[in-house]
Amino acid sequence: MSKGLLIVLSGPSGVGKGTVCTALRKKMPNLIYSVSATTRQPRMGEEEGVNYFYKSREQFLDMIEHNQLLEYAEYVGNYYGTPRDFVEQTINEGKDIILEIEVQGALQVKKSFPQGVFIFLLPPSLDELKDRIKGRGTENETIIDHRMSVAEEEINMIEYYDYAVVNDEIEHACRRIDAIITAEHCKISKE
Ligand code: 5GP
Repeated sequence: MSKGLLIVLSGPSGVGKGTVCTALRKKMPNLIYSVSATTRQPRMGEEEGVNYFYKSREQFLDMIEHNQLLEYAEYVGNYYGTPRDFVEQTINEGKDIILEIEVQGALQVKKSFPQGVFIFLLPPSLDELKDRIKGRGTENETIIDHRMSVAEEEINMIEYYDYAVVNDEIEHACRRIDAIITAEHCKISKE
């Protein structure tokens, strides 16, 4: 049995990764989602084990120490990381898994899984990005500014990715991601 694809989806805060993933879930029900661990507080409406596994700093450091994370990064004052076992188990079962993670983490995954599929989601423009972060209404002005400067740095890392998808409309972005995954399945292995 061939292994499943490990798909990494990155993109700046506010670009709509969460919304695109929700839409992809409906469109591609066989795609599995990796649930990350984080030390950030849950936002309104988020659920333990669905959006994230919420951890204390001590618990997170313990996971790092016991090599339980495939990758991790500190992002705007909090830790985020991907539990390793679930990802490895899923691809070994021949199922595709998608990791919605930021750039530093994606680069770590690329080292251990160079055969992964790395997709970068872009906003139509930086102005539009700022409007989207503000519109979410969950962050204060200082955090918005911090997220915007991180966003610009992240966009500069696009060269490390295999594909760029502009999130102009959710449906269009999903269709492109679906097409990328289909193409990757048709690819002739060079190994
Ligand atoms: P948010 O706080 O908006 O949920 O997430 C902040 C950033 O952390 C987003 O860019 C998101 O993709 C990223 N992120 C979420 N989970 C992980 C993870 O497990 N590892 C890494 N490296 N980044 C993550």
